[in-house]
Amino acid sequence: MINIPKGTKDVLPSESYKWQFIENAAREVAKDFNIREIRTPVFEHTELFLRGVGETTDVVTKEMYTFEDKGGRSITLKPEGTAGAARMFIENGLANAPLPLKAYYIAPCYRYERPQAGRLREFHQFGIEVFGTSAPEADAEVIFAASSFLKKLGIRDTRLEINSIGCKSCRAEYNRALKDYFRPHLGEMCATCNERFDKNPLRMIDCKEERCKKITANAPKILDYLCPDCRAHFERVKTLLDGLGVEYAVNPDIVRGLDYYTRTVFEFVSTSIGAQGTVCGGGRYDGLISELGGGNVPAIGFAAGLERLVLLMENTGVPFPEAPVPEVYIAGMDDASRAKAFSLVNGLRTQGISAEGDLMARSVKAQLKYADKLGAKYVVVIGGTELETGVCNVKKMSDGSVTCVPFADIYAFLKNN
Ligand code: ATP
Ligand code: MG
Repeated sequence: MINIPKGTKDVLPSESYKWQFIENAAREVAKDFNIREIRTPVFEHTELFLRGVGETTDVVTKEMYTFEDKGGRSITLKPEGTAGAARMFIENGLANAPLPLKAYYIAPCYRYERPQAGRLREFHQFGIEVFGTSAPEADAEVIFAASSFLKKLGIRDTRLEINSIGCKSCRAEYNRALKDYFRPHLGEMCATCNERFDKNPLRMIDCKEERCKKITANAPKILDYLCPDCRAHFERVKTLLDGLGVEYAVNPDIVRGLDYYTRTVFEFVSTSIGAQGTVCGGGRYDGLISELGGGNVPAIGFAAGLERLVLLMENTGVPFPEAPVPEVYIAGMDDASRAKAFSLVNGLRTQGISAEGDLMARSVKAQLKYADKLGAKYVVVIGGTELETGVCNVKKMSDGSVTCVPFADIYAFLKNN
């Protein structure tokens, strides 16, 4: 027996409707917000993520699935969707298309992490990216799209936390203040924090180690260092969110895992799925496109983890729609009636009715048992009499009522009931 690789999951036929429900909701929200789908490769040149995600991030330093292909190129399975979307934008000259360019994706991501509830090595993201606008309206719109998506799923149990991490200029000043604060504590902090102290002190705020968290709690807050432009931008985003009735809390400790975020960052967090509570995270990344060799194109986006959404919905009793069941099961008693049942079932299917019949040469009793297991809404049994008269009894399983229907009218009967 060969087992599934660690940190991956099968979606069984009995549960795929849950995924379809979530994906459909994502597509509906995208449509309402006039956002078009993009599809980019599952693998990219490793260099894209080194530059596009950032060399000091956990994703790049610890989590990437990187390998050399047969042509000697370094290839990485995408750990997130933004870098590939940005590459696509640049490579296809989409800066010349009407802007802003609004795109979404539903795609698998790969990170070599320690598997636990809500943390897998292959997981799936629904993400939105808006390229070409630095307007605070875009920030509020993207956040509202995420919030509308969660609402559409019936999820109530998340908290929206927002922050601004400023631009290059306010960040330079903030980084200096952070260094002054952390310098005397470096001996008590972890190796990663010590590394980040030189390269990117902002990321020290993100450390999950208890001893570091204690020190970080009293560190200077980025919000006190925002330049006037960044401050005005953040205020405007908040005002717009207020106008849309979106509730949020400002959390100055959100800095997000990826390096090229600027200004607005946000997370939708739940307390119902354990330590991995962030179901959706996003922010503005005005520096990314130019970092990747494109022009000076501001952008903003988010990504929501679909596995965490399924977990959250299951844990908090948010109902999924019913699993789909066949409209009708048509059983046959002998070879001749079985052939008629077969042709009726397939005829209904071509008319868009979900129908099922026997593929196992089972007895009528066993066929009816199977129909019951499937949850068929109506059941028909065809035998010699039905063949002769061309009329059959259609039984409604929910109340046992029976209607006599000519073969030719089964479609119309099912359509109207
Ligand atoms: P975390 O702090 O939980 O590691 P992150 O900051 O690494 O999250 P992002 O890179 O922002 O996560 O990814 C966006 C979303 O993708 C997360 O909010 C989460 O829902 C989902 N996600 C990230 N990593 C995983 C994973 N290993 N397994 C399942 N879902 C994940
Ligand atoms: Mg992570």
